[in-house]
Amino acid sequence: MGKTDAFLSHGVSRRDFMKLMAATTAALGLPELMTPKVAQAVESAMNKPPVIWLHGMECTGCSESLLATLNPSIESLILDTLSIRYHETIMAASGHVAEQAYKDTLNEDFILIVEGSVPASAETDAYCMVGGVPFRETVLEAASKAQAVICVGSCATDGAGIPGACEIAPIGIRELLEKNNISTPVINLPCCPVKPNTLIGTLFYYLTFNEVPELDEQARPIAYYGKLLHDNCPRRGQFEMGNFLEDWNDPAQKDYCLLLKGCKGPKTYTDCAQVWWNDNANFCINAGSPCSGCSEADFYGQFSPLYSKQENFKLPGIGQVNADTIGVVVGGATAVGLGAHLVATVASGRLKNNDSEQEKED
Ligand code: SF4
Ligand code: SF4
Repeated sequence: MGKTDAFLSHGVSRRDFMKLMAATTAALGLPELMTPKVAQAVESAMNKPPVIWLHGMECTGCSESLLATLNPSIESLILDTLSIRYHETIMAASGHVAEQAYKDTLNEDFILIVEGSVPASAETDAYCMVGGVPFRETVLEAASKAQAVICVGSCATDGAGIPGACEIAPIGIRELLEKNNISTPVINLPCCPVKPNTLIGTLFYYLTFNEVPELDEQARPIAYYGKLLHDNCPRRGQFEMGNFLEDWNDPAQKDYCLLLKGCKGPKTYTDCAQVWWNDNANFCINAGSPCSGCSEADFYGQFSPLYSKQENFKLPGIGQVNADTIGVVVGGATAVGLGAHLVATVASGRLKNNDSEQEKED
């Protein structure tokens, strides 16, 4: 059975398959003309590579996110595209049988996906043990043998997320491998949880071209994490007009910019504004919630409280941040626009009340 036939047999039409390939081609920054080539490459390169998926200090939200994928469906992904040999949440096997499947796969040319952070050292190993074995040791063993490591979610990428805010301060997988001189390529796919299309697109890219996509300094694919959310936000026009939501209960403010409610959009790199969640149903800001910055290493510990204006957004005349600092935070032309806009807003007196209220809270 051809690879496309395999998709078709699980309810994905040729049209949907080509739509997925077109979206993947666009996300990877390739011209539209490349879509047939990408589709052809995916079809011929798919050889059901074995995958080991490990869980560390996390909430299983990234697995839940992947299970909700619609195009392709999770059945198609598991049955036709990948060969997931070990995944504690979805595998039918348990105990020694599952452990044997894990050990056997270590001898193959496999991809390692890690969900969750890891205790930084032997002293804190007791906080994350699986089957009596420190998770830290399992990751080191599997990563040293894998062809590539894909870290999904904020916990695995940066040691961030909810476990990252706890006292034992776990670390991300890339940091763990660097500390132990393991040079297996690492691809970081943060967000809390990872977006299914980001993971699937990255896997397709890797399987098609047999190489790691272009990454930023945090090892995130530029295709998905190269754009500032604030620059593409549907509420950017409200920001430019100085309309900042202050009262959740005022219907007139419901579409206003969420900066004063803690929005981290001006320092968050993600494609959330362009590629919405749940098969493009919606995303945080469009649903009325400020961005929590979950694609950034500072999430969650440094970005809390999530619904309060952050110090980094205080500007000349209204708070502690000066224009130079704003330049560091958002950079380049955006900084100029942001600074000029907010200075004008301050001049009009629109932010003063918010700032004094915030200072009272602080
Ligand atoms: S601050 Fe947040 S809500 Fe306002 S425009 Fe920027 S990203 Fe959108
Ligand atoms: S909009 Fe912000 S908080 Fe929401 S998923 Fe995207 S990066 Fe995370």
